[in-house]
Amino acid sequence: VAVKLADYSPYPFEIEQVDLAFDLDPDATKVSATLKISRKPGGGTAALVLDGEALDLKSIHLDGRLLGPEDYALTEKALTLPDVPDAFELKTIVEISPAKNTALSGLYISGGRFCTQCESVGFRRITFYPDRPDVMSRFFVTLTADKAACPIMLSNGTPGDVQDAGNGRHTITWDDPHKKPSYLFALCAGDYDVYRDTFTTMSGREIALAVHVDKGDAPRAAWAMDSLKRSMKWDEDTYGREYDLGVFNIVAVRDFNFGAMENKGLNVFNSAYVLADEDSATDADFEAIESIVGHEYFHNWTGNRITCRDWFQLCLKEGLTVFRDQNFSADMRSRPVQRIKDVIRLRGRQFAEDAGPLAHPVRPDTYGSIDNLYTATVYEKGAEVIGMLRRIIGPEAYRKGMDLYFERHDGQAVTIEDFYACFADVTGRDFTQFRRWYSQAGTPQVTVAESWNADAGELTIQLSQSTPPTPGQKDKLPVPIPLELALLDGTGGTDAWTVVLDQPEMTLTRKATGARPLLSVNRDFSAPIRVERDLTRDQRIALVVAETDPFNQWDGVQTLVTEEILKLSEGSQAQPDDQLVDAVASAVRKAAGDPAFAALLTRLPEVGELFLERSPAEPVALHSARKRLQAALSRALSDTITTTLAAPSPTPYEPSAEQAGIRALRAAFITLLGASGAPDAGDTLLALYNAAPNMTERLAAMRALTALGTCQARDTALADFEQRWKHNAIVMDKWFAVQAGQGTAATVAELAAHPDFDLKNPNRVRSVAGVFASANLAAFHAPDGSGYKAVEDIILKADAANPALAARLLTAFEQWRRLEPKARAAAEATLKRLQNAKLSENSADIVSRALG
Ligand code: ZN
Repeated sequence: VAVKLADYSPYPFEIEQVDLAFDLDPDATKVSATLKISRKPGGGTAALVLDGEALDLKSIHLDGRLLGPEDYALTEKALTLPDVPDAFELKTIVEISPAKNTALSGLYISGGRFCTQCESVGFRRITFYPDRPDVMSRFFVTLTADKAACPIMLSNGTPGDVQDAGNGRHTITWDDPHKKPSYLFALCAGDYDVYRDTFTTMSGREIALAVHVDKGDAPRAAWAMDSLKRSMKWDEDTYGREYDLGVFNIVAVRDFNFGAMENKGLNVFNSAYVLADEDSATDADFEAIESIVGHEYFHNWTGNRITCRDWFQLCLKEGLTVFRDQNFSADMRSRPVQRIKDVIRLRGRQFAEDAGPLAHPVRPDTYGSIDNLYTATVYEKGAEVIGMLRRIIGPEAYRKGMDLYFERHDGQAVTIEDFYACFADVTGRDFTQFRRWYSQAGTPQVTVAESWNADAGELTIQLSQSTPPTPGQKDKLPVPIPLELALLDGTGGTDAWTVVLDQPEMTLTRKATGARPLLSVNRDFSAPIRVERDLTRDQRIALVVAETDPFNQWDGVQTLVTEEILKLSEGSQAQPDDQLVDAVASAVRKAAGDPAFAALLTRLPEVGELFLERSPAEPVALHSARKRLQAALSRALSDTITTTLAAPSPTPYEPSAEQAGIRALRAAFITLLGASGAPDAGDTLLALYNAAPNMTERLAAMRALTALGTCQARDTALADFEQRWKHNAIVMDKWFAVQAGQGTAATVAELAAHPDFDLKNPNRVRSVAGVFASANLAAFHAPDGSGYKAVEDIILKADAANPALAARLLTAFEQWRRLEPKARAAAEATLKRLQNAKLSENSADIVSRALG
């Protein structure tokens, strides 16, 4: 049953106030909900329909009168009261079992503590309520729990005093003064270690900040706290947005389906994105924590104060908030390096999604299962669209439009149209065509051709765009594509300008002062497109050398190595071209002054990206070609690698961007060293593993050892790592992931049989099945179907307990139509088998869309 954007209609009632009382017990929690309800003016005589799922209804009172079964209708999904007055109070009492909730949606237990996840539709698993984002209300929440088990009881807003409740229990009421939809409700209760600090806002108010973690983990929350304070300051400085409550709480939860959740004043995090210290975390972990803490904090204004009218508008809060967190990270670190990393992520996940059967617009107009719409397209492409908006209208107009948006829509649940009306009002522009970016799926392709008129000293540039068909959208219209262009004279001279390609075709001419210039296109990745240019390899190398935009320097190298790998993949023995390898090696050496950037230059595109360039795609051949190029690059850089690794790693350790850059290059060189094919690589890597003074380098060495395949050095490192970290689940996830990312189907089966493999823990399941299916494509797409079988086994078990988790894993099958015939047949057979298995709604939705 598909939901359609066109079918939206407002809720006929207002919920003026909600009083929730929780009598917390792992097996049987009693939830009393008192709703002050009034019919909206013109609300007619509509029945009151409340969402509710898996609730054990105990009683309903309307204005104090106990209702009987003749007064209402109760189904699996809803409670309907056909005949209600215009204004009334409704009190329901239900019982739920947090301990039995394995779906991790609604109220559940993790690590022995109570927590909730309500977005999008988890609140209906807690109590009967209009569980939709456009119903906003004032919440009062009373929590009662066992004093010993739950010394700390948290919810949204402002806490009242803790009072004794008898029988060893105590009680507290939280009052959230800001109206909110139910998906932003949260409660957490249990025994935590708390890392506390304060933040003084721009108007001088002092906010009490606290990060709640497992017993003994408080010191590992320091970085998350530091990131939170920097986020609060950044939103004041960059968007003029101040925090609006006296307290801000973060709770780390071990079993969590996603990264984190922006509940008002009570952000709940997957513990992997809270806990970090020098010994146990990589620089990438520190970076991810900073970015996700920022993301959830920024939602306070873009998501909470102003929320979405319906779930079709998800990108209104997610795309915008990702754009905000990306800029926060860019300001904390290096802007060009951040841009490159954002594009790697976009191309790796979103471009693939946009090119397969799961493709959908940034704002979809229909969905089967809302959980499956938290996609790379909504988040990452959604962020790119905001970036294009800002580029087209300029930073000042962007800020003015945002200010107007905050002023006009504070406290409301709105749409993409409302958002763009603010920018139309401050600029006088019409965004009708621009909004096609929200309704049209698929990655636009821009073809660039050029011709030089020596007599006139003029370069003519012909641009054309087209977007491939996607499911349900055969014909595409042109979108406005902001293209940053430049003419480069080869000695650093740069004549840069921006055009908006809003027609199917456009011809530009540009005067140049001297000899024929080189043309730089889509600088800084100004639009999320694929650029097609008919250039020879020599021309591409010349362009990389002349390039003055760091993003395009990197991207030029990516294009060169991509073309080389694709060529190599056509012959199993073909060897990389020396001239190409030398060009890449010299670009890496030249970038030594910016090690984070140099590290990115050593990166070869993943099989998942290479895939998109080939149909049919042969993952095994692509993987082997990639390895050959990596080995050649390793040999070409061998002296630089030896010298760099002989120098000590920076001490004392700091998670700073500067040190992280140095370690990133060291880790990249460790990877290359392992790829060299040298007979003593195992011993060298084991020595590096043993000597590594931080997790970034230790993990790089362990990964490189694992890539060698079965050998003594690899086994020694893996055993040592397990011994050292077996009591730290987050670190052990890396141990599982490293092996799943390199091994075969047999490795996956072995890891799934490990005593520490836990089907109930999403991080652990993803570190095995998720990593295997998304980062080890040669093995996942093995022509004999063994990779599919290994993942299918895990998915079937996971789905019974946790549909959201299983459905996410299933998306790995989205590329099946592109595969060489054997793998393709095996993938299709697997999907058909899954289609006939009794899957959850979430998983069935992915399978049926994947089959198309
Ligand atoms: Zn978000």
